[in-house]
Amino acid sequence: PRVRARYPVLAQAIIHGGSPQLRNKATVGGNLMQRTRCAYFYDTTKPCNKRQPGAGCSALEGLNRNAAILGASEHCIATNPSDMSVALTALGAGVEAMTATGAVRALTVADLHLAPGDTPHIETALSVGELITAVTLPPAPTGGQVYRKARDRASYAGGLAMVAVAGGQIALGGVAYKPWRALKAEAALAAGQTPAAAAEAELADARDSGRNAFKIALTTRLTVAAIAQAQGGKS
Ligand SMILES: Cc1cc2nc3c(=O)[nH]c(=O)nc-3n(C[C@H](O)[C@H](O)[C@H](O)COP(=O)(O)OP(=O)(O)OC[C@H]3O[C@@H](n4cnc5c(N)ncnc54)[C@H](O)[C@@H]3O)c2cc1C
Ligand code: SF4
Repeated sequence: PRVRARYPVLAQAIIHGGSPQLRNKATVGGNLMQRTRCAYFYDTTKPCNKRQPGAGCSALEGLNRNAAILGASEHCIATNPSDMSVALTALGAGVEAMTATGAVRALTVADLHLAPGDTPHIETALSVGELITAVTLPPAPTGGQVYRKARDRASYAGGLAMVAVAGGQIALGGVAYKPWRALKAEAALAAGQTPAAAAEAELADARDSGRNAFKIALTTRLTVAAIAQAQGGKS
């Protein structure tokens, strides 16, 4: 009840994930750390730099309909599929982690996942054996909170694009190797620009790999709709 009352964007994001069966079994740490759904990562007959460093990336010229449009590298264009993490990123949440030797440290959800660069097999800032033990939320932001998800089916489907708005803070999902904090969009809104201008500012650097070109327009429209809804306007 406290999450629903203070952080509705987080409650909405979680309810958009998977199915009731998955939500009732999955853990917070597991959802934060879930791997990409790039099909080639799981197909051991195809090259994949994330699974086997230096092997090549089959998605670059292959089935890349749901590949990244932001933050990708020539070595990996996989996306992070989590819903919950997008809301956590918009809220500026942190994680507490404990190493195998018992040392405890804190980091932000935004800093948890590492850019693919030329080492896409190194996915997070956690060391081997390090365990997420808690998630911390800052005070609830002032302003509307909204989570929107575009997907191929109305239920039980991973997102093509997700947007979380928490007051003046925005994060995008399904578009990059991590939940993508939309700092350019936030700056545009803070400067008094329209939701459309804010979305365009964030997506100006977006790049497609062919079959995922539609995601740029989709994410732009979804971002505009989510911001407008959070601001109390039409969506
Ligand atoms: C059919 C299907 C549909 C799905 N749809 C969605 C969706 O729409 N949205 C969405 O967000 N997710 C979706 N998921 C993903 C699902 O939410 C994740 O599989 C789930 O959250 C993982 O949680 P788990 O506790 O089972 O983690 P596990 O699968 O047990 O673990 C996942 C990874 O995290 C690591 N890990 C687990 N806990 C910790 C910890 N505390 N610290 C460090 N590492 C840890 C594990 O070692 C493993 O590498 C879907 C999954 C399936 C199978
Ligand atoms: S996008 Fe990443 S996960 Fe997918 S095939 Fe390429 S290297 Fe592997």
